[in-house]
Amino acid sequence: MTQEHLKTLIFILLPPVMLALGMGAAIQGAWLPELPQGLVEVIPWLTGVLAGVLAFLYGRTRTLICVILVLMVYLGSMFQIRPMAMTTEADLLPALGYALMTLMVPLVFLVNAFWSERYHLMMDLLLRLSVFGSLAGFAVLFATQFPEGMADLLLTTHLPALHWDGYGMPQLSFWSLILCLAVMGFFVVRRPTPQWAGQWITLAGIGWMLPQLFHAYAVPLFTATLLLILAIAVVHESFQMAFRDDLTGLPGRRALNERLQRLGRCYAIAMTDVDHFKKFNDTHGHDLGDQVLRVVAAQLRKVRGGGKAYRYGGEEFTIVFPGKTAEQCVPHLEAVREAIEAYEIAIRNEASRPSNKREGRARRGPGKERTVSVTISMGVAERSVDHPDPQSVIKAADQALYAAKQAGRNQVCLAE
Ligand code: GH3
Ligand code: MG
Ligand code: MG
Repeated sequence: MTQEHLKTLIFILLPPVMLALGMGAAIQGAWLPELPQGLVEVIPWLTGVLAGVLAFLYGRTRTLICVILVLMVYLGSMFQIRPMAMTTEADLLPALGYALMTLMVPLVFLVNAFWSERYHLMMDLLLRLSVFGSLAGFAVLFATQFPEGMADLLLTTHLPALHWDGYGMPQLSFWSLILCLAVMGFFVVRRPTPQWAGQWITLAGIGWMLPQLFHAYAVPLFTATLLLILAIAVVHESFQMAFRDDLTGLPGRRALNERLQRLGRCYAIAMTDVDHFKKFNDTHGHDLGDQVLRVVAAQLRKVRGGGKAYRYGGEEFTIVFPGKTAEQCVPHLEAVREAIEAYEIAIRNEASRPSNKREGRARRGPGKERTVSVTISMGVAERSVDHPDPQSVIKAADQALYAAKQAGRNQVCLAE
């Protein structure tokens, strides 16, 4: 895991985790002021509408399903679904209802998270609702028709060794919750996006809430908090989509423009351009070209000296160095240029792959994979009397870049 990855993960996870923990602590410690119960009960519906409308408007069907699930758990609590400890042997059905809910909610969360948003918005939503709805329908049907058999399956402690008394959930439900959280957590860490993080924290929150569904104060307030987290995730994801370049993951032109407005009195800007990239595309195809841009971006992202890389457009990138002179940036830029020059990209694409084994050996040479590499040219300029604003610094850096190209490419040029 790179430092940048860790930073993204923290940036995405910290606010919703703090929100959930803060509210959890406030509820546990009874720090909140007394509110009229009627008001408390209406808050989840208001936040639910907010999160639902946002998710719908931004086409986030996955999050919309999460909103519906959270509201259904809340509804379950209002309809007197009681945790295990509070049901007696005599009333099997409420216990079964609780067991079913605790088992199905995590599983539906998991399936929903991995079900990519591919179809038309309404179609996608209807498909999800009908699949999850019929699943729940069947489960309820089975529970009412064969309560003994279902109780045997859902309520029994199958593995006494793995039983933990402190948790008010049947064993099967508890371990399926843990499994779903672990699988989703793994993907959140691997590819942190606000939507994934929001779904994961919401499921964890539901897991915390399920054993205390009787609590008339905790449940509505914590439900509202989870819905708020989902609403924030939608906004955060849309914000990222607007400011981040999809291909490379770097911040895009809009983010650069914002940054340029907030620069102080001392800064340097470097413009970067991939060498002979048109020819590269023509020779190796656009797909490999895109892969190269991702590699170049990943290297530029690692630039030291406090520089931050942006995708300017096409195969051009901009690095902003606050508080630096152009000369101070040169060693950092040189390091990145060398790293990119040395980086060998394996060709994995089918079209350029040798068609049979013998030809493959001939083309690759013994035990070697076919690789390609590219170089970049850079121009760097600083704020000065001649270039008093970011736009003119960029222009000067662009001229230096042109000079680097003229001088034979694969080099860094200082603006004069
Ligand atoms: P030079 O060394 O002078 O920069 O030569 P060049 O061929 O790189 O110059 P030019 O700026 O004319 O070429 C830019 C090429 O970059 C054109 C286009 O095919 C390619 N390109 C721009 N954006 C993308 C992209 O998103 N993906 C891919 N694969 N290629 C892109
Ligand atoms: Mg160019
Ligand atoms: Mg180029």
